[in-house]
Amino acid sequence: MKQDRIKVVVIGGGFAGLNLIKRLSNDKRFFITLVDMNNYNFFPPLLYQVATAFIEPSSISYPFRRMFQEKENLRFHLGCLQRIDASANKIETDTGILDYDYLVLGLGTESNYFGMENVKKHSLPMKTINDALNLRNHLLLNMEKAVRLETQEEKERYLNIVIAGGGPTGVEVAGMLAEMGRNIGRKEYPEFKDMQTYIYLIDAAPVLLGPMSKKSQQEASDVLQKLGVKIILNTAVKDYVDNKVVLSDGREIHSTVFIWASGVTGREVPGLPPAVVGKGRRIIVDEFNRVQGMSNIFVIGDLAFQSSDAKFPNGHPQVAQVAIQQGGLLSANFKRVIDSKPMKPFAYNDKGSLAIISKYKAVADLPKLFFRGFFAWLIWLFIHIIPLVGFRNKVKLAFSWMWSFITNDPTLRLIIRPGKGK
Ligand SMILES: Cc1cc2nc3c(=O)[nH]c(=O)nc-3n(C[C@H](O)[C@H](O)[C@H](O)COP(=O)(O)OP(=O)(O)OC[C@H]3O[C@@H](n4cnc5c(N)ncnc54)[C@H](O)[C@@H]3O)c2cc1C
Repeated sequence: MKQDRIKVVVIGGGFAGLNLIKRLSNDKRFFITLVDMNNYNFFPPLLYQVATAFIEPSSISYPFRRMFQEKENLRFHLGCLQRIDASANKIETDTGILDYDYLVLGLGTESNYFGMENVKKHSLPMKTINDALNLRNHLLLNMEKAVRLETQEEKERYLNIVIAGGGPTGVEVAGMLAEMGRNIGRKEYPEFKDMQTYIYLIDAAPVLLGPMSKKSQQEASDVLQKLGVKIILNTAVKDYVDNKVVLSDGREIHSTVFIWASGVTGREVPGLPPAVVGKGRRIIVDEFNRVQGMSNIFVIGDLAFQSSDAKFPNGHPQVAQVAIQQGGLLSANFKRVIDSKPMKPFAYNDKGSLAIISKYKAVADLPKLFFRGFFAWLIWLFIHIIPLVGFRNKVKLAFSWMWSFITNDPTLRLIIRPGKGK
């Protein structure tokens, strides 16, 4: 390695980190090391399709080392951040120590259980590939257990599903599970014929899809109710005890599948002063995504809290586009600094939001347009295939979608339990 190159260490290869790396790696004045606790990048918007056995995990993930093949100024370091030593320009990971000239944090968020220990211990989150596979196994094993129960009442109680969180993830997973129950459940589980089982979608807010338009909120509610999903709004989850979800109005819903899609908090970054950690454990940054009071540590994506953008004084939404745009601008700013040019401040270009609700139905709030139904679904498909890493993944995904949607019969419902033997 040439010694005079600028050492950039990027922690987190999600939307933000990867987009920065992609744009910076074409400039040989930088030597970049990506640190990630996984050896692959994955696409969170499609996790719910992995969790519901609709697509394979490999369709939405891609190994970093494959991406970095033959890139002379890029290295990958598998490890989990333990601590930053800002005074020595070093980071400690569980697999070694690295030094840097510039440090970029793109660690994203983790599930927030709002201090509810039982919920944390026993609910099923959906933030990572591991979570999605765990949920898939849990759903499938649960149905096999329910088959063996004696009475219809016992079976019905066992098959109830509760989803906490009426944002895009909760809505998407509710719609998908309802479709599965209709299309696949009936064909493959004759034991459950004529049974009344329910999917509950719960949110403390008065509407579903909070940040989206009223039309989108209404459409989501209408479509899900038609599919039989029971929507409970203005109600918070308080506890989860003995397979019962306890609600703020005192109600208890029996459920052995309790999916937690209700809120996130920034990942912890030991070593940074507490004064830079803001609301939702996001790190407070200036207009250039530089950590308050530090000259060479930057935060991008979900973990960054930036109030300098005039249109977003309370911080940006934690969505992929913000992360992608911040990564892109920071790479340009690093180049500008070594070209002795001033850095440019970040301003988010909001291109709109989308959510899929069920088979062939979605909502799309674009800057001046609203679409729903099949056309919105087509836009959703297009927008979610384009950013996938790897041409093979795009083709594979397009094919599995086509196949599943045409036949109503994907064949991925395998209970695979890692471990020895069997
Ligand atoms: C289920 C789900 C559905 C979503 N759907 C949408 C959608 O439809 N549209 C949309 O715009 N947004 C969606 N989002 C939000 C979107 O995924 C995030 O805004 C985006 O991923 C943020 O990018 P990021 O780079 O900041 O973080 P992430 O993409 O979360 O990447 C963080 C990276 O850091 C790594 N990491 C974390 N901690 C450590 C550590 N201690 N040490 C080393 N590495 C670490 C992780 O492995 C990961 O690779 C969804 C999120 C989820 C969970």
